[in-house]
Amino acid sequence: MNLLQIQRKFSTQNKCIAYLEKLRWNGKPTCPHCNSKMVYRRNKTNIWHCNHCNKDFTVLYDTIFEDTRLPLPKWFMVVGLMLNTKTGISAKEIQRNVGLTYKTAWYSAMRVRCAMIDYDNIELHGIVEMDEAYIGGKPRYRYKKGDNTPNLSKVTAKRGRGTKKTPIVGIVERGDKVVLKVIEKLTARNLMAMLKRFVDTKNALVVTDEFRSYRSFDDIVQHYTIQHKKKQYVKGLMHTNTIEGFWSIVKNSIKGNYIAISKKYLPLYLVQSQYVYNHRNYRGNLFEKFLKQAVRVDKTDYMEHYKPVKKDVKKLIYKPKNKRG
Ligand SMILES: [Zn+2]
Repeated sequence: MNLLQIQRKFSTQNKCIAYLEKLRWNGKPTCPHCNSKMVYRRNKTNIWHCNHCNKDFTVLYDTIFEDTRLPLPKWFMVVGLMLNTKTGISAKEIQRNVGLTYKTAWYSAMRVRCAMIDYDNIELHGIVEMDEAYIGGKPRYRYKKGDNTPNLSKVTAKRGRGTKKTPIVGIVERGDKVVLKVIEKLTARNLMAMLKRFVDTKNALVVTDEFRSYRSFDDIVQHYTIQHKKKQYVKGLMHTNTIEGFWSIVKNSIKGNYIAISKKYLPLYLVQSQYVYNHRNYRGNLFEKFLKQAVRVDKTDYMEHYKPVKKDVKKLIYKPKNKRG
């Protein structure tokens, strides 16, 4: 759905509510407190009452739309904007386009990202490429004597392994989905755990570069190593061009839209990059699919609050639970 259609179809709070009630309950309203169906709508309002537990609720209870004063038609515009921009969008742009304060724009965008979290249904197979990248950290500028403006042509920030940047790992199935995670440490054990978690190792061929932490992959999966150091980049089907192309999308979108991303929220920006990439060929109504996920009752393991709460965002950082992965 494009923005104009969204604006026309969901012009009032009540129209939005009716739509969300349909997506969440499909005609069978259920009490979110006790799961009872003995509920009724309070006269001419959007408030429901449960006869079983005696509590009130609305369809927004326990969703990304809960507890905000932002009217739903504006929320829907934020969602539409974020789904329709392939390369990401800044809070500043949302602020301008929807007419919000910066703070509200930032917060609503973060909540939308919370509903984009989708790690549960990912199992990659076929030819799979795995690679790491580094994001963040301030570039170091050089100043000429007596000149206060940084010389951007001489940015000397260190790159890659061994810097203070945040390591992220991506695994992509050719022609299909990508999974993207901030990883606590780039150790062989953590990479192995991530491989096992997201890749169907019996039916996959994994292509990586020669980073030594990938060596142990040989023991559990068909594994091909590209020798970048020997200037080898492509050997027939063996290359990591898909994941490298994806990294440039992610990095450009971060560079183009966000001046700086705090390390704390980086996982949520990556969630958005992953979501947009994984739905690039989706033919149905993505707006509806997204809202359905945003109001669904069974949440993922990752978010308890549907808000950018520090504790929850931390859960998005990949850190295998048991030592044996
Ligand atoms: Zn109840």
